[in-house]
Amino acid sequence: MRFEISKVLDAIEGRVCTDPSLARAVLDLAEVIRYQDIDGGRPASLLRLGMVIDALARELEEDSVPVYAVVHRALLSDADLTSNERMVVRRWADDGLVEVLDNPGDRMLEVADLLGLPVVTRVRSDGLRGRYPWLVDQPGRVVAPVPGAGGPVFIAHVGGGHTPVEGERSPAGAKLLSRHWRCPESGCALFGGGGGGGAFADLARVVERSPAAQPPPTLRGGVPTCPRHGVRLGDAGPRPRAEVLAVRIGGLIRRRFVLTEEQSVMIGRAPEQSGGVVLGQWLNDEARRWISRSHVRCELRVGEVVVTDVSTNGSGIRPAGSMAEADRIPLAPQQSRVLGEGDMVELYPGVQIGRPGELPAGAPYTPASVMAEAPTMAMRLPR
Ligand SMILES: [Zn+2]
Repeated sequence: MRFEISKVLDAIEGRVCTDPSLARAVLDLAEVIRYQDIDGGRPASLLRLGMVIDALARELEEDSVPVYAVVHRALLSDADLTSNERMVVRRWADDGLVEVLDNPGDRMLEVADLLGLPVVTRVRSDGLRGRYPWLVDQPGRVVAPVPGAGGPVFIAHVGGGHTPVEGERSPAGAKLLSRHWRCPESGCALFGGGGGGGAFADLARVVERSPAAQPPPTLRGGVPTCPRHGVRLGDAGPRPRAEVLAVRIGGLIRRRFVLTEEQSVMIGRAPEQSGGVVLGQWLNDEARRWISRSHVRCELRVGEVVVTDVSTNGSGIRPAGSMAEADRIPLAPQQSRVLGEGDMVELYPGVQIGRPGELPAGAPYTPASVMAEAPTMAMRLPR
């Protein structure tokens, strides 16, 4: 059972990040783990984060919906969590996957404001509507998770809907995210070179954080500041350009990934390159046979997305989303092509890569739960 729970926590780990291009909602981990009414279980449980992430995936109709979690420092030693759960949260903190703060204050709302993300919370913050007008002006921007039949469901604080709604990055957010920041504290997991400084880090886990994946600084008196260390951040130059692409399989977006001018991304059945997008888990036998281990390489060159086929069997381009066979442009092995607005690369029928906004869901939704490995005991819902 312990082993099973570890597997669930590993799955949840793949859904927490502070990358502004990938996070889809903001939440306060200390609040979420105490939603005892969702499952009637222990006072605090990290599995509830998984349940909320699954609920987001159902609402947004995508398989993988990463959340930006703000974490009160006290949570790292919270006696209501199991020692295993505490260890996992510390690891996330060391790797910069979550943002640990001595005093979170309204940081959750600040992140939502800077990044234009929806907020998942039961806490009403109407008193901050002066600073964050979208709290009351934008229906669906803040949603409360409440117990539902198959896990938590959402109710919008304003408007009464149930789907979290994204906003625009605030002007301050757009400005902050145009620069690369550096924290003077050594080993800063958020604004340093990597997550090497923590007590639980070892060589295998040190991940170089790409400048394009840096979280938004906090503003203190208008000065970009490290939210973790409370010190002024240094400006390390322009942030590299980034573009988000998504893999759609069987009509559903399964995963988004980020392309930068420094880092190309390989997509295939099981690419060996680090940072590659592994499709194997979603493919049927025929697609597995057709799609190469490394099938296409995506690059960002001077602001344009360039796709290169590196497969045995080749790919095709669907120009501006057209599904007509006559419009399909073959992409032979070793051929490259610029991916225009609305274009998709098709690795195999029904397996496509494109910009997420241009890949609408087209299939009945059957998400892969991060909780798939959860023991039934932990998942039991109140009657
Ligand atoms: Zn720092």
